[in-house]
Parts: sequence; C-alpha cells; structure tokens
Amino acid sequence: MYEVAIIGAGPAGGSAAIFTAKAGKKTIVLDSNQSITKKAWVENHYGVAEITGPDLITTGIAQAKKFGAEVLQAKVVSLTKLDEGFSIETDTGTVEAKHIILATGMLSDLAEAAGIATRDGIEPRTKRIYDVDASGKTNIDGIWAAGTCAGVSIHTIITAGDGAKTAINLISELNGERYVDHDLLK
Ligand SMILES: Cc1cc2nc3c(=O)[nH]c(=O)nc-3n(C[C@H](O)[C@H](O)[C@H](O)COP(=O)(O)OP(=O)(O)OC[C@H]3O[C@@H](n4cnc5c(N)ncnc54)[C@H](O)[C@@H]3O)c2cc1C
Repeated sequence: MYEVAIIGAGPAGGSAAIFTAKAGKKTIVLDSNQSITKKAWVENHYGVAEITGPDLITTGIAQAKKFGAEVLQAKVVSLTKLDEGFSIETDTGTVEAKHIILATGMLSDLAEAAGIATRDGIEPRTKRIYDVDASGKTNIDGIWAAGTCAGVSIHTIITAGDGAKTAINLISELNGERYVDHDLLK
C-alpha cells in the first residue's frame, strides 16, 4: 500500500509529489493526460524566464521520480474507503493508498462517487471545486485536494505552490510535527 497517492500530474500534483517523495513517503502519481497546462506558454512563473507547459510538467515529474515517486498513466474512476486507507479504481487496475491528494485541475468528477463535498468555483471556467479547509483537507478524512480543483487562482506558480503547501501539511500530520524541507547550498 502506498502512503500517498496523488491524482493528477499537473503543477499541483507534481509539486505535491516532489515533497511527499522527498520526505520518504511512498508515493504514486496517477494521471490521465488531460492537463490544461499542456496548452500553456508560461512567462510569469517566478525564477523561470519562459517555459512551455509540457516542459514544466515533464521537468516537475522527473524531479518527483528522482526522489522515488512512481508515476502511472491511468484515469481514476472511483475511490473506495477501506478499513485503512483507500482503494483507487482506475481504467487499468486498482491501487491502494493510505492518503490521497486530489490535483485534478478542472475536473472534480471523482467527488460524487467518493462523497467528497464540492462548492461552486469562482475562478474563470471552473465549475465545481473540492471544498477544502485552509490546510487542503476535504470533508473525507485522508483525502486532500490542491490546485485548480481546490479553487486557487489558475496560474502555475500558485497551483504548484498549493500542491507543495498541501503536501507539507499532510507530511506534517503524518510526522506529528511541522515539516520543513531545506537543503544547504552545495
Ligand atoms: C492556453 C493556456 C495558457 C495558460 N497560460 C498560463 C500562463 O502563461 N501562466 C500561468 O501561470 N498559467 C497559465 N495557464 C494556467 C495553468 O496551466 C494552470 O493554472 C495550472 O497549471 C493548473 O494546474 P493544476 O495542476 O491545478 O491542473 P492541470 O495542469 O490541469 O493538471 C490536472 C491533472 O489532473 C489529471 N486528472 C484529472 N482527473 C483525473 C482522473 N480522474 N484520473 C487521473 N488523472 C486525472 C489530468 O490528466 C491533469 O494532468 C494556462 C492555461 C491554458 C489552458
């Protein structure tokens, strides 16, 4: 069983995976290749002069893999609560994880099957979004959400930051103390 399953490999999910994998949490990222970021040309991401959306995602996922995250191309179709963790049913099989971070971009269709509360989105083109608290938790214990699907502004710097924030909050809860990931200058 994975410690953390992240659904969505856009900036929010990829960024979350970098943090959970680097923190030593057994992480899998499941993605259906429907990222809106794959259509973007980005010139407003702090510290990056300019980059294509596909390159941003490819680089981010490579970072997550470097720290041990596994990545599976699959569409998640439903989530089922187990005694411990969740069963994640996909179009290619089933994965089990103790904790889930939803980073599904414009899509929030997993809510109904899993009983996750949603609310109206206020950002352009977002219809329903997951109703999360300030830490990124949904109403279902063990399921968190980050990025566009959690209602933040639709910009890569913000969705990636929200993925990182949510992962840090999850890691902190698992570790029982606030988590900080700082590396010294090499
Ligand atoms: C044309 C265009 C131009 C843009 N230009 C800019 C720009 O210049 N600067 C900027 O900051 N932002 C820009 N953006 C916005 C930016 O792409 C988004 O704000 C941000 O990247 C969204 O990140 P995300 O991770 O929340 O969602 P996404 O990148 O959409 O990722 C969500 C992922 O979840 C996966 N997923 C969804 N449901 C499932 C499921 N059931 N099972 C498995 N996987 C699932 C999808 O396949 C997808 O890969 C642009 C967007 C577009 C469309």
